[in-house]
Amino acid sequence: MRQKQLAVIGSTGSIGVQTLDIVSEYPELFRASVLAGGSNVDLLEKQAIAHRPDKVVIADESGYTRLRDSLTPLGITVEAGSKAVAEAAVSVPGVDTAVIATVGYSGLEPTLKAIEHNKAIALANKETLVVAGELVTGCLAKSESTIMPIDSEHSAIYQSLVGESHDSIRRLLITASGGPFRDKSVKEMEHVTVKDALAHPNWSMGAKITIDSATMLNKAFEIIEARWLFDVPADKINAVVHPQSIIHSMVEFVDGSIKAQLGLPDMRLPIRYALGCAHRLPTKRKGLTIADYAKLEFFEPDFEKFPLLKLAYYSLEKGGNVACVVNAANEIAVAAFLKGEIPFLDIRRIIDKSLEAMPFISSPTYEDYVATNAETRKYAASLISKPTH
Ligand code: NDP
Ligand code: MG
Repeated sequence: MRQKQLAVIGSTGSIGVQTLDIVSEYPELFRASVLAGGSNVDLLEKQAIAHRPDKVVIADESGYTRLRDSLTPLGITVEAGSKAVAEAAVSVPGVDTAVIATVGYSGLEPTLKAIEHNKAIALANKETLVVAGELVTGCLAKSESTIMPIDSEHSAIYQSLVGESHDSIRRLLITASGGPFRDKSVKEMEHVTVKDALAHPNWSMGAKITIDSATMLNKAFEIIEARWLFDVPADKINAVVHPQSIIHSMVEFVDGSIKAQLGLPDMRLPIRYALGCAHRLPTKRKGLTIADYAKLEFFEPDFEKFPLLKLAYYSLEKGGNVACVVNAANEIAVAAFLKGEIPFLDIRRIIDKSLEAMPFISSPTYEDYVATNAETRKYAASLISKPTH
């Protein structure tokens, strides 16, 4: 395999940092030609000095001058602003793969640009497919671009589907750890703190997805993501609670067989597989010792305790801009929860109220998604200062 040039969009986050670990593990296979981050100037600068990309982009324009002064003498082009982030993967000649690892709605534009320019995409940012799965897959069908999932469940499904025909799928089984509140009652969830919600039992991830795991909206998002990635209808996708997070997901076939992918809960595994384009890259890192896991458990999810899980099916059935509303309201609510401005259970209340308030658009254009996202954020933010119950 010749050396691939990567644009890592969101390089300063949890997935971004682990992507650069993989670049360092296989220097002959990968080079980070572009690094883009949100606002963490210190880390972006450190990454640029270590990886010597051609270009560095920072979304937060206040970080521009410092990066320009320190990186321009090294021959690195520095740009700032959200437009520069959106174009980062397509503005440097020779980039093969865009790794989309920003959080939230900010992943949509760079993904659409990468598709427009026929780039291979390694997609961590599930919100892109949640917000605009129909638009994204429609554009993908008209392009030579491909999407390799980084999300561990989708990587597991992808791996389980190798060599199988689409007709033979009976059901996708997406595993969920259940998050830190799996055994808490709704009453107990009323009083949980930010620290409690950030204490994920198995995975170390960015703050936003960790809160989404605690509400289980993350699992709803993954059902939506799977619907678009694998073209399987919602009624054939189930979540199953598996507290050990060793089976990353499964596919049940029409003959009753189930295939699963197992591994340690380490995102470098699906990142390695996505960057290797489904080739298995040998690693010296520790793998799974199966005898350490004498007990693997599985449970039906509790939709009453985690009602946000139902939003996967509701959003896919309604279609249009519904999932975009859910995502935007959730981003505002999660940010407010993390700042201590609202209690945990207000996240779901803000999403519900936003769904009631926002106008439905059945066949949204790109501009409709942009407007839905902006208007929902504004509406959800207006609820933060008022009690929702
Ligand atoms: P983090 O919060 O750790 O990192 C987010 C990254 O996005 C940071 O580099 C941040 O920059 C950057 N960023 C934020 N806003 C913008 C913006 N407007 N423009 C450009 N860059 C921006 O998140 P994670 O790495 O945990 O998650 C990234 C994505 O991957 C999410 O969509 C998540 O759902 C998905 N994912 C994550 C997993 C994980 O294990 N972490 C597992 C599966 C999926 P900065 O920090 O510099 O501000
Ligand atoms: Mg996942």
